[in-house]
Amino acid sequence: MKITTIATHYVRIPFDMGAPKQEFAGLRFPTMDHLLVQVETDAGITGWGEAFGHSIIPATRAALETYVGPWFIGKDPTDINALHREAAQAFHIFGRNGPVVYAHSGIDIALWDIAGKRAGLPLSDLLGGARRRHVRAYASLMRYATPKTVGRIAGEMVARGFRHVKLHEHSIDAVKAAREAVGVDVALMNDVNCPWSVAQALEMERALRPSRLHWLEEPVWPPEDHVGLARVRSAGTTPIAAGENAAGLHDFIDMFQKGSIDIAQPSVTKIGGITELRKIAAAAEAHAIELVPHCAYFGPGNLASIHLVAALPTDTLLENIYANLEASPFGTAMLAKEGKVEVPSGPGLGIEPDMQVVEKYRQGPAGTVR
Ligand SMILES: [Mg+2]
Repeated sequence: MKITTIATHYVRIPFDMGAPKQEFAGLRFPTMDHLLVQVETDAGITGWGEAFGHSIIPATRAALETYVGPWFIGKDPTDINALHREAAQAFHIFGRNGPVVYAHSGIDIALWDIAGKRAGLPLSDLLGGARRRHVRAYASLMRYATPKTVGRIAGEMVARGFRHVKLHEHSIDAVKAAREAVGVDVALMNDVNCPWSVAQALEMERALRPSRLHWLEEPVWPPEDHVGLARVRSAGTTPIAAGENAAGLHDFIDMFQKGSIDIAQPSVTKIGGITELRKIAAAAEAHAIELVPHCAYFGPGNLASIHLVAALPTDTLLENIYANLEASPFGTAMLAKEGKVEVPSGPGLGIEPDMQVVEKYRQGPAGTVR
């Protein structure tokens, strides 16, 4: 089998989040943007992937269309492991993190979709079997900033059946308001996206202790300061989560060895796809670190994350961003009901995109590499 064509679809979908949108992690979110990656083969099987993401999509798309995609044309899509290694070596001088790796991630996800379709099995079966037909999801809230609004939205998530709620807030008052709204029995997490020095992070971790966070995510700038992160973890009492900005397996190994984290959060559309994420899952298990993948997207990367979480031996959590999309090419597949998301049962990722929705929300024509 050979890869014949790779198409890219830049889809931008309006959404609302129950309150005015705030800037965070240096990003604005006027729409939820996805880069869908469609890999065609000479066997007539099409695979879908997703490459990260949001405001960087034009750069990811350029990397995919000019360099990463052409490299894959003519290659055998069934040779996933060896092809992943070969591609990573071919691209390494252009950076081990960022748009080139995001583009590679999108294609790798599509190759696993093709593998599932060839086998006639859902991706979770290829990954060793889905222990559960539904995965537990945590509501991951956008930034709301105002404590009153943070409390209101966090409370709404509990009313919808979530038992785990994650904030993206920088103020102690906002976290406190959320804790008061969700009560003592709901797990509350806070993701701050790398804002603080180690000294500031130590101080903030202490100040946040009364809110009894289930985890504090990315407290330290820069994300590659694994020693600084380890200092915050060892001095504090709050579990520490990180990994969405890591560069591959070896960045995680370094964090495990330095004692930086309790929870590893590789992102399937950023880290090198399913192939790289599987290796990180095995390494995390070997170091007794919990794995909760980063999943701040709504395309095939989200579907892949559902299957990955379903196939893990431990009953871990799936990130579920709270954003009411105007429409989705994947229908309601990623929506949580009573805090759980169903594992798709079709072959591969399990759900094909609705091309009418893709075309309606696509920014310009599809890009094509052949
Ligand atoms: Mg995060």
